[in-house]
Amino acid sequence: MYRTHTCGELRLANAGTEVKLAGWVQTVRKFGSITFVDLRDRYGITQLYFNESLNPRLDETPIGREYVIQVSGKVIERTNRNGKIPTGDIEIEVSDFAIMNIASTPPFTIEDNTDGGEDLRMKYRYLDLRRPVLKRNLELRYKVNRSVRNYLDTQGFWDIETPFLIKSTPEGARDFVVPSRMNAGQFYALPQSPQTFKQLLMVSGYDRYYQIVKCFRDEDLRADRQPEFTQIDCEMSFVEQEDILQTFEGLFKAVFKDVKGIEMTESFPRMTWDDSMWHYGNDKPDLRFEMKLQNLKVSGKVYCEVLNGSEFKVFNEAETVLAIAVKGASEYTRKQLDELTEWVKRPQIGMSGVVNVKCNVDGTYKSSVDKFFNEDQLKSIAAFCGAGAGDLILILAGAETRTRKAMSELRLEMGNRLGLRNPDHYTPLWVIDFPLFEHDEEENRWVARHHPFTSPKPEQIELMGNPERYGEIKANAYDIVLNGTEIGGGSIRIFQRDLQEKMFAALGMSKEEAQEKFGFLLGAFEYGAPPHGGIAFGFDRLCALLGGQETIRDFMAFPKNNAGRDVMLDAPSAIDDKQMQELNLRSTL
Ligand code: ASP
Repeated sequence: MYRTHTCGELRLANAGTEVKLAGWVQTVRKFGSITFVDLRDRYGITQLYFNESLNPRLDETPIGREYVIQVSGKVIERTNRNGKIPTGDIEIEVSDFAIMNIASTPPFTIEDNTDGGEDLRMKYRYLDLRRPVLKRNLELRYKVNRSVRNYLDTQGFWDIETPFLIKSTPEGARDFVVPSRMNAGQFYALPQSPQTFKQLLMVSGYDRYYQIVKCFRDEDLRADRQPEFTQIDCEMSFVEQEDILQTFEGLFKAVFKDVKGIEMTESFPRMTWDDSMWHYGNDKPDLRFEMKLQNLKVSGKVYCEVLNGSEFKVFNEAETVLAIAVKGASEYTRKQLDELTEWVKRPQIGMSGVVNVKCNVDGTYKSSVDKFFNEDQLKSIAAFCGAGAGDLILILAGAETRTRKAMSELRLEMGNRLGLRNPDHYTPLWVIDFPLFEHDEEENRWVARHHPFTSPKPEQIELMGNPERYGEIKANAYDIVLNGTEIGGGSIRIFQRDLQEKMFAALGMSKEEAQEKFGFLLGAFEYGAPPHGGIAFGFDRLCALLGGQETIRDFMAFPKNNAGRDVMLDAPSAIDDKQMQELNLRSTL
């Protein structure tokens, strides 16, 4: 028997017991003739005490960091207790030990505060994963997984696997492709999501499907994106949007309760996409704080009267003028305001400056545009923005889309600066009534905002023949948003062949192309497709949020780096000529 207990298990109540432990050596500390070793495993750390009688053996076979050892000994009370770890009241007085495997000196310290840089840790990910922080993250991930499965089981969902080697499904990203040896010159695609399969399962009558499943998207990577990631993918039949929102709000609440011990009793607020854009400038509002966007002028229409009579060219010439009222920030210094100006000028934000109005505590107003607005006018602007004494109003002006986006970023930035985005405070909501189409400016064509299987609002179906009005059509689509991050989205699907064909046509697909790409789905819709809808959650992102962290990478056992590489495996990599030949591939490099 290697061990009687784990390294996280023993307490004072076990004092006097003879035990066997096995694990990795975290540290070796020699004090004169005695030696202390911290022994680590998945469960925790236990201190070992080697008295002087073991010195000859320790001299003969010294113990080093990350060696795998096994010890026998007695649990004794520690004189010098460590309140920071659960086993801190005891130690093991070692009577015998064996080295099971030696280890090279690790390239970085295996502790939460490690000295290893990102690349080094990625290269030795198996060592990185020994660090308690990562262990906690993976434990949390497992708990979320269990909780999801338990809840969906109580709701009658079945976990059904779908293939990875498929034909491409358009979800808006590039496909990863896999050459087929047996079908020369042909390729499979890896699924961007199991979208069409889950819909086919509904046609087959498998109401209430789910999968916690890998999805693959060949996108340019950002901090919180990975080429392969995991979704909680779900689909239901004979449902309306309301059924889906109820079912998955339940899932969300169950996860919060199981994983965080948080009871969410209230129903999640719902906000239309239009409202979200109007009040927050984006479709994933962070509701941990107010600071709504104030729409002084939008697409040429003035809402704040004062703007009409002014000589201020910047506002007069701008398509849109937006403001936020920052509570309690009227005492922002010149330096802080200059900093904000620099911030909005960054290329990612792309504005030329920010106008400020200080609503001083003594009731006076001071503004960077005093030349154009008198005190009364500033007061009117403040009233329009709901700003009171002590608040600071920040105003951006420019083209509608850019200004709205910039203001939404500035709002979040001010939320950060004012400490209003506490990671332990959770504010979920549903964003509903998304537009069905989105205009792709680069390609100058309409694309599906969610995906082409999303149904339009029934009363707007007739607009589908009229490209001029595509922008008006709303979809039966919804997102679940938490703390400014979209963590899930889905839709009620189209389930009639003719409507699906209309949708493909609206997206500029010819009949032949639609048949070639989606003949299987169109065909299935002729054999009794039920009304259905579903949703998918970003599992990695949900875990990161529950762990109060930003990057999903830290919640995956073996992630890729920012360039999409696995630096441990050194993948992707070239394959040899023989493999290339077998696959009928020729490199042009
Ligand atoms: N397949 C969709 C996605 O990955 C989710 C859904 O509509 O269920 O975003």
